[in-house]
Amino acid sequence: MAKVLILGGGFGGVVAAERLAEQLGDEHQITLVSRSRQFVFYPALVRLAFGKSELSDVAFDLRRSMLNRRINFIEAEVAHIDPTEQSVTIAHGQVEGKLSYDYLIFALGRRLATESITGFYEHAHHLLNVDKAISFGKAVKKFHEGRAVFGQCSGARLPVPVYESAFALARRLKENGEPERVKITIVSPTTLESELVDPAGAKVLKKALDTHQIEFLPNLQIQSLTQNSAMTKSGDAIDFDLLMLMPPFRGSSAASYVGITNEEGYIKVDSTMRVAGCERIYAVGDCTNFDGPKMGHMAVRQAEVAATNLAAEIEGRAPAAHYRHEMRFVIDELGADSLYLHKDLSTDKRATVAQGRFWSWAKRVHEEYWEVSHS
Ligand SMILES: Cc1cc2nc3c(=O)[nH]c(=O)nc-3n(C[C@H](O)[C@H](O)[C@H](O)COP(=O)(O)OP(=O)(O)OC[C@H]3O[C@@H](n4cnc5c(N)ncnc54)[C@H](O)[C@@H]3O)c2cc1C
Repeated sequence: MAKVLILGGGFGGVVAAERLAEQLGDEHQITLVSRSRQFVFYPALVRLAFGKSELSDVAFDLRRSMLNRRINFIEAEVAHIDPTEQSVTIAHGQVEGKLSYDYLIFALGRRLATESITGFYEHAHHLLNVDKAISFGKAVKKFHEGRAVFGQCSGARLPVPVYESAFALARRLKENGEPERVKITIVSPTTLESELVDPAGAKVLKKALDTHQIEFLPNLQIQSLTQNSAMTKSGDAIDFDLLMLMPPFRGSSAASYVGITNEEGYIKVDSTMRVAGCERIYAVGDCTNFDGPKMGHMAVRQAEVAATNLAAEIEGRAPAAHYRHEMRFVIDELGADSLYLHKDLSTDKRATVAQGRFWSWAKRVHEEYWEVSHS
């Protein structure tokens, strides 16, 4: 019997657990550890903030969903892993102390390095958890005039909700007949081309920004915040009355100090999703060291590859599945102009870009699929 421990109850951890349960016999034990028993469907948080989704559409009970699939669930905080001892230290929660494993899948996502932006905690809204999305939604409701600034800090790696929330605000103001009293600005630490990793996609997005009179300011690295102003590395001040900012991301601290991470704390993996230079450990999702944006569909694909290879390893076969680093996203909230982009990040081939109401619908269908298949 093999004891498999999966850390993290997000896209990566949940899909890895489900696929392993499908592939392994009942004699093996699969346990998923996460700090919360709720799974959050993050792509729906922009809609939650703008009052177009209910909390019940965005989160579901992970424990019940896992138990239905004969996966043990432990609600607890992971402190760190010890690959030499093959154990995980649990700081607090349903269990405390050490949990041992035969095989580990690390899927604890990324850490928000808010400490590197002075004033972030006090003065910025963000959308990286349910409470923050709700609190941003309340601020949006009260916002009727002035300047709304949306953006990413250097290292944030999540452009989609920045654009979606700027478009959602533009739409709301138009519906309320208030667009003249508000200016919307998007601030980027790089350029539109590099945020979308493709010039054709950037061109289409720029046109949509212009149509909605959204200003785009490239190459501004926000370093600190006061109540109504963002200061950049080059000394510029960007004034705001409403701010939604993605903080810098870093790898999970639970993987620090064991020699498996790069300089930003992301876990080094090969294309089979095995942790480089480490036996019996796989890593998937936002915690890994792939280039470009960090997205849910990547975590899902990586989890499928890791589960297939881990099942093979347990059964004495060589891991044969490989992950191909591709990016797909839909920028919703553009109605008939909703934008779909697909790019293979392992080649120089240009992206496929498409526009239309269909993509908005497709994103919603995906959300409903997750909700129905896990509740
Ligand atoms: C607002 C928003 C919109 C997005 N839109 C899109 C989109 O349109 N398309 C797309 O593909 N992606 C989108 N994403 C990105 C996507 O949600 C992430 O890439 C995805 O969630 C990564 O999955 P993961 O499993 O690696 O990490 P996560 O989903 O972050 O899961 C990590 C899990 O580990 C748990 N955890 C973390 N640390 C600990 C610890 N120390 N102890 C115990 N448990 C811990 C967490 O509670 C969580 O359950 C969006 C994200 C946000 C925030």
